[in-house]
Amino acid sequence: VTKVLFIGGAGRSGSTLLDRVIGQLPGYVSVGELRSIWIAALRENRLCGCGEPFMSCPFWRQVGDDAFGGWGAVDPDEMETAVASLSYLRVWRGLVGRSDPPVSPRVADRFERLYAAISSTAGGATIVDSSKGPRYGYVLSSLPEISLRVIHLVRDSRGVVYSWSKEITRPDTPGRSVQMLRMGTVEAAARWVVQNTFTELLGQRAPVTRLRYETLLEDPHRRLQEALADLGEELPEDGLGFLESDAVQLRPNHTVMGNPMRMASGSVVLRTDDAWRRQLKPSQRRIVTALTAPWLWRYGYPLRSAD
Ligand SMILES: [Zn+2]
Repeated sequence: VTKVLFIGGAGRSGSTLLDRVIGQLPGYVSVGELRSIWIAALRENRLCGCGEPFMSCPFWRQVGDDAFGGWGAVDPDEMETAVASLSYLRVWRGLVGRSDPPVSPRVADRFERLYAAISSTAGGATIVDSSKGPRYGYVLSSLPEISLRVIHLVRDSRGVVYSWSKEITRPDTPGRSVQMLRMGTVEAAARWVVQNTFTELLGQRAPVTRLRYETLLEDPHRRLQEALADLGEELPEDGLGFLESDAVQLRPNHTVMGNPMRMASGSVVLRTDDAWRRQLKPSQRRIVTALTAPWLWRYGYPLRSAD
């Protein structure tokens, strides 16, 4: 059985940073957003977190050999479609009641082989996967050979919506300029609600602990210890030596996808990104607050825009 620590929630919530910090603990390995491995990595050969194109990275070559006898033996489109074609209704039914397995036995077997090979290539480590999407989390929760634990990472909806509105160039597509996906106010707010709600529902299938991005950055040591303890994970006494209260020493990694900061290594400053407080237009802020109010309240965020 392969242990997977899944970071769930809405995109743009700081999951890449959390993924990398936990991935540096003894006994863990960070892979970024593994759901993107089929298209971004296998089809488009984007850069691994180590800086090599995915197909040239020795870590991932080993994983492909162990799992499938080489990446050529898997059809990336089949794997991608298996998750992308799941409707949220189907996922909801699967999470709250009984349902048939969400993917075919063949696809399930491939997923199990992939995760087992990553873990063994990393010396038996627990895999930290920041794929986030609840559909993907649901598929993982259905696999008998995977032991799933979930950190539900929540960030203020107004910060998330602001982040989706920004223009950011991807650093992992050399030779061409690729912008990170952007999204409008209402769409981003609606996605925030759906993804957080479904991540909570994942608690029907696996242990889930909730962690707020803003409080994580206020006291990273303590919040991480609490979250891992809540999931029954032991944190070695000296395991967090690389993490200070305001900076983290990041080592090179083999993440397949995520925020551009996945390519960074060395000392990275830890600071809450609250540019939205100054940059998000008052009209947008009112829309987001109104659309997400019950959830903001539930997660302990102030509704008043002056806060
Ligand atoms: Zn690599």
